[in-house]
Amino acid sequence: MTSASQQVRQGPAWVESLLGLLYPEVCQLCRGEPAGPATGYVGVACRARVRTLKAPFCERCGLPYSGEISGPFTCANCAETPLHFDYARAATIADGPVLDAVHRYKYSDARWLHPFLAGLLCDAAVPELQAGGWSMIVPVPLHSVKLRERGFNQAETLAGALSKALAIPVRTDLVHRAAPTHTQTTLSRQERAENVSRAFHAGQGPRWFNWTRRPAPPRIHGKSVIVIDDVLTTGATANAVARELRRLGASRVCVWSVARATMR
Ligand SMILES: [Zn+2]
Ligand SMILES: [Zn+2]
Repeated sequence: MTSASQQVRQGPAWVESLLGLLYPEVCQLCRGEPAGPATGYVGVACRARVRTLKAPFCERCGLPYSGEISGPFTCANCAETPLHFDYARAATIADGPVLDAVHRYKYSDARWLHPFLAGLLCDAAVPELQAGGWSMIVPVPLHSVKLRERGFNQAETLAGALSKALAIPVRTDLVHRAAPTHTQTTLSRQERAENVSRAFHAGQGPRWFNWTRRPAPPRIHGKSVIVIDDVLTTGATANAVARELRRLGASRVCVWSVARATMR
């Protein structure tokens, strides 16, 4: 039986041999152990340091809770925030090798880390999602200016891996990011929520060649949608995207991410 991550790792052999010439076969996170392209240049020791997210966690936002707790519970933030998604889950805790890999993947264009990150996401999400009757996957969109700067949307490439594993389509025409939000790491929970709540709009963004006439956003009545992001922090971004999907008619929205940051 092949695992979801093995399916993700398969690429054309010539690409892998070319990468082998360009990059030494050493773990790109610690540089102290062998690792090749098939595993995203992440070695066995660094993989062993990955902390997968296990119960107990908040049943709505997936916030991990340390300590003994029996039965489902909802955290204080979820109790006081109107949530537009049914639940959010993450594959891992955002620290150590995962956080390092995510940062390099999106800010340093380290796309060879894709098999590693996509493998973490798919290994955790596919067993949970495959029998759920989900209709489509929506990556959290980047603003067009940021997309041009970065060259790719990390949420979209991760969504692509999940799409292959689940055999359901990725839709990038449903929600766009109208306002470029700045790096949010220095903002409080409240400030983040306000910052992103106006950032997303249903449908496609304006195109330079068709500035005035935008097609009406498609309707997705009764559809079940999986929202994908790389890291989930407060959940405010995913919540803003989920709100637009509900406006388009989605009946169920869940959120999956590679890693869960535990900002309070
Ligand atoms: Zn390593
Ligand atoms: Zn919660």
